[in-house]
Amino acid sequence: MNYTKLIQFLAITGLVSAQSFCSSTGHSGQSVTEYSNTVGNINGIGYELWSDSGSNSATVADYLCRSGLSFDSTQTHSQIGHMYADFKLVKQNIQNVDYSYVGIYGWTKNPLVEYYIVDNWLSQYRPGDWVGDTKHGDFMIDGAMYTVFENSRYGPSIEGDTQFKQYFSIRQQPRDCGTIDITAHFQQWEKLGMRMGNMHEAKVLGEAGSNGSGTSGTADFPYAKVYIGSSNDNSNNYQQQQQQQQNNDQNNGGQWDWWNSWNSNNDYQQQQQQNNNNVVSSYPKGSGFQFYTQCKNRNHWAITYDDGPTQYADSILDLLKKYNIKATFFLVGNMYIKSYDSEWTRIVKRMYNEGHVIGSHTYSHNDLTQMSSQQIIQEMQQLEDAVYNAIGKRPAFMRPPYGSGNGNQTVMSTLQSFGITAACTWYVDPMDWDNGGNVAYAKQEFSKLNGEGVISLNHLEYNGSSAQGIIELSTAEIELMLAKGYKPVTMEECLGMSAYK
Ligand SMILES: [Zn+2]
Repeated sequence: MNYTKLIQFLAITGLVSAQSFCSSTGHSGQSVTEYSNTVGNINGIGYELWSDSGSNSATVADYLCRSGLSFDSTQTHSQIGHMYADFKLVKQNIQNVDYSYVGIYGWTKNPLVEYYIVDNWLSQYRPGDWVGDTKHGDFMIDGAMYTVFENSRYGPSIEGDTQFKQYFSIRQQPRDCGTIDITAHFQQWEKLGMRMGNMHEAKVLGEAGSNGSGTSGTADFPYAKVYIGSSNDNSNNYQQQQQQQQNNDQNNGGQWDWWNSWNSNNDYQQQQQQNNNNVVSSYPKGSGFQFYTQCKNRNHWAITYDDGPTQYADSILDLLKKYNIKATFFLVGNMYIKSYDSEWTRIVKRMYNEGHVIGSHTYSHNDLTQMSSQQIIQEMQQLEDAVYNAIGKRPAFMRPPYGSGNGNQTVMSTLQSFGITAACTWYVDPMDWDNGGNVAYAKQEFSKLNGEGVISLNHLEYNGSSAQGIIELSTAEIELMLAKGYKPVTMEECLGMSAYK
């Protein structure tokens, strides 16, 4: 499989009127078309196109393009003058973007800082707390609320592989068009002790990345401009600004359009058509994110199974059917049967079609607290894509492997930004996973319950398991819980919200 990428720049010779860029449509001017990673220049306006196809040839792991002003790293922003950018973005057919920044991007030297002012994104969700190791909080900057983050990073930079800082302002409400007061962000950051060095660049950025399936879509910038002087919001200053641009050879403000689209050929469309789902959730979508150990109502009992699908799944599904119990299955992608294997897909479809709820248990069942947010997203995305391929739904509920992550900032903010509304742990662990399970011990644990809303933890396979052992333990649990008057529920009914995004 291959992917194509295309970028087209249009340089405009004349200036459009100051305030009309948000309402004007279309492109004009000279254009170039690029199909590969490029650093180029049209009439003195620099641009860059970069695409990283990652280890999987079907995946465009990261796509970015940017254009704007470059500096010689000898002057601070206050020596250069007040910086603004005008931009207009039109999104079209964006798919499978996990993280994305649209706004201003640049570097300073001494200290070495990579900075982002994010006014919009091509992903479904706003970039989350995972962008930085320090969250400074929310600030009113240039008339809108932004969350400011700081991060320390070792990695590739404009000075090679080294230690540097990253600063982020992320707008709470994305906008498609407007004037960004770049210097206002610099000033707010400096108030917070986030030191800026000598200016290296300030550019309008469009970046889209994926941790799983390849991204595709079109991000159209009919207007983008970085300039020094006065904001275009005030037309009285317009002449002055034009003059300043002419006087400053180094700061080739100017105006340009850019249009870019990228595509990775995957089977996404085809998969969508193959999905037929006739089971519709009647619960509202959840908001926010939380760990849960119990159901909201007393006498509710959510029976859950982890680590499937496995060779024993059909036996458990038969048992649940016999008792007319709807359960919740937290699936993995590569522990027993591999995702995309026809057997994996068949079993997941059977679960879903028989009224059970499907949740994520991550792709490869590793401890999330040992991972970066990017790795967590990858673990979640891979499993989500496999579930989507099978049933046309994307799980909003997950169970973290080993139940870990509650209180861990990286885990919690990453899961939330990925659209997960519930991390489901458990109230009762009958220890079925311990040496093949012990029915007497399990019965003892369930016997102690006294009307609490219960989430019970079971597995579709474990060390030393047999079909007989698994069925015996589940049968004992079901008989006992029904005898105690518990109502068996799915995690949807347990939490009162939709299990799917
Ligand atoms: Zn597990």
